[in-house]
Amino acid sequence: FSIIHKEDGPINGLIAVLHDITEQEQLEQERREFVVNVSHELRTPLTTMRSYLEALQEGALQDPEIAPRFLGVAQNETERMIRLVNDLLQLSKMDKKEYQLQFTEVDFVEMFDHVLDRFEMSKRENIEIVRQLPRVAIYTKVDQDKMTQVLDNIISNAIKYSPEGGTITARCWTIGKKIRISISDQGVGIPKNNLSKIFDRFYRVDKARSRELGGTGLGLAIAKEMIHAHHGDIWAESKWGQGTTIYFTLPYKRIREVGDK
Ligand code: ADP
Repeated sequence: FSIIHKEDGPINGLIAVLHDITEQEQLEQERREFVVNVSHELRTPLTTMRSYLEALQEGALQDPEIAPRFLGVAQNETERMIRLVNDLLQLSKMDKKEYQLQFTEVDFVEMFDHVLDRFEMSKRENIEIVRQLPRVAIYTKVDQDKMTQVLDNIISNAIKYSPEGGTITARCWTIGKKIRISISDQGVGIPKNNLSKIFDRFYRVDKARSRELGGTGLGLAIAKEMIHAHHGDIWAESKWGQGTTIYFTLPYKRIREVGDK
């Protein structure tokens, strides 16, 4: 393949054609991998449910202690499958560019604050959320539902992967013409060579752990698509065993001091 990088001589035309084919093949391979992944992801909860239902049928149903536990497992698996299918449908809509973002101008700081309020009510009790938000209004055009979903996905990961007694820090500031948002936790962290992969569909550092926590492996892939549709960037920094920070940026329109609101 070294010839592809050669810039001189008439062979250049051929290089372009070869490149096209490889790209198409790569897309095809990605599509095949995706189908395999989806099948595996659905098979796991289904086989789990089958064995629990079989056990119930074979007598566990009569055991007042075991029966509710087994039904609970079946219910959890069903709920995860529903989440998975909803996430898949959403990604497929985005792939087909079938969706229209409903942009409205909002004060991002206020919106972020509201989302955090909601998590404050529902989070595990021994986790603290610290807010470091500027005392200004930063107006930006976003699709509020989609942006709320991005924040939900990132914050719920921070909570999921936080240790008991951990602190989550939510920050927001401006840098040049962009707002930068960060959400940090003190959790398990992500090994360096996996950092960019966490935004890929179905990629998880620890599959079993993610499933146990109810994850679908699609949350950050959806967040990435949505941030890109908003003309922003998203990335992660992490120290294995010490914590993770997810950053994203968005272009903003204007800032106002809170007093002028
Ligand atoms: P999941 O449903 O598995 O959480 P995501 O797409 O949201 O899927 O995240 C992909 C993977 O990235 C997770 O399975 C986990 O391995 C890793 N990850 C995401 N956020 C964090 C975090 N805050 N701390 C540690 N690992 C994380």
